Amino acid sequence: MSALETARDQLRRAAERVDVDEATLSRLFEPERVHRAAVPVERDDGGVETLTAVRVQHDDARGPYKGGLRYHPDVTEAECTALATWMTWKTALVDVPFGGAKGGVRVAPEELSDAERERLTRAYAREFVRDFGRDRDVPAPDLGTDAETMAWLADEYERVRGDHRPGVVTGKPPVVGGSVGRESAPGRSVVAVADEACEYHGIDLADATVAVQGFGSVGATAARLLDDRGADVVAVSDAGGGVHDPDGLDVHAVPAHAETPNAVTDCDAADGGDRISNAALLELDVDVLVPAAVGDVLTADNAEDVQASLIVEGANGPTTAAADRVLEERGVPVVPDVLANAGGVVVSYFEWVQNRTRRPWTRETVLEQLDGHVLAAWDAVRERREAADCSWRDAACAVALSRVARAHETRGRTRPRATGRPTPERTPGERP
Ligand code: NAD
Repeated sequence: MSALETARDQLRRAAERVDVDEATLSRLFEPERVHRAAVPVERDDGGVETLTAVRVQHDDARGPYKGGLRYHPDVTEAECTALATWMTWKTALVDVPFGGAKGGVRVAPEELSDAERERLTRAYAREFVRDFGRDRDVPAPDLGTDAETMAWLADEYERVRGDHRPGVVTGKPPVVGGSVGRESAPGRSVVAVADEACEYHGIDLADATVAVQGFGSVGATAARLLDDRGADVVAVSDAGGGVHDPDGLDVHAVPAHAETPNAVTDCDAADGGDRISNAALLELDVDVLVPAAVGDVLTADNAEDVQASLIVEGANGPTTAAADRVLEERGVPVVPDVLANAGGVVVSYFEWVQNRTRRPWTRETVLEQLDGHVLAAWDAVRERREAADCSWRDAACAVALSRVARAHETRGRTRPRATGRPTPERTPGERP
């Protein structure tokens, strides 16, 4: 089941629980705009490689499009459409004034030198410069990109536009307008939500065993914060495989992906437990499983074999709709991505506000406000779940869909485009 099929299945299920008119619903099954480009990138040896790049803008009824930029060999327009759709639900759920978008380049980032990564990012910025804008579409980091990538993206955008436009990109390093707390925010919200979900399902997080797939920005932060709360993180992994110690790993001693790529793959099994495959990690008998790497890892093929008591999604789209049904039937609660990892977009919103007001916030303010947004979203989903007696995902999607649908109806977007808002103005000759 593809990510897009999963996203559409989730929307269909949410629509059964929400009063939303047909026109709005059929619009939300498709992205509002899709921008594609063939991006030529000069390699260090002087050769030129043309890479496929995309930016999908799913919905902007609640505010400018918002979503990450992904560098990964599996990037497709369909996958970005699914990810952009989830961004629409995520921004609505944590109630920040944005819509949903996602961009990507089909490339293996580890095969690029730093200079090639910079040239690619600047070329991407030039291709999509008219599609981005602090009031139009605001990108951020995702799989394979980081704060440095966002600094290049923002810099190239501003060079082309000819002036400073803080707020056009979030997830930047603090020295060029990034917010303190942005990098750790998705992992922090995963842990805050895991804490609530554990309490709800009668698991003591301070005494729980946890397995985390992916040791990047989201996974490593979540693993370390879970360790700080007393949980035993018994397994972690990266793209090359994982390490498992039933007595608990010292996750602070393993470098995260940004610090040393493939550190989990390369870490000495003698010091850090036994080697374990990514597939076996997902089937460990643990209290909490946190898939925090890539999508579609929990499928109809392995959902029967998952032994975790609770799943908290750190990655976007790790569970296919088919796996969701199996896990629901087996009574394994799955706390969805759009709720659990939403801390990233919340602090991106804070960064956007700080850039626009040109007043930096303290770490204390960021963390306090972040927890407020995430816990309010948790409460809304919990109430919906209890009222409708449904899964966490169905409840989260229903809350988000009702907010997005209300924005469409209030703006009068349920009417056909000809009587609705005009398309953005473009000067003659601009790429549509
Ligand atoms: P990252 O690039 O920082 O780290 C990714 C990690 O996953 C690395 O350890 C990598 O080795 C590992 N990995 C890659 N392919 C894998 C595979 N097939 N199996 C197991 N591990 C694999 O990425 P990130 O920013 O931590 O993003 C991880 C997930 O979280 C993605 O799904 C992303 O969309 C989602 N997410 C990221 C953010 C953010 O702000 N960075 C916010 C919300 C959600």
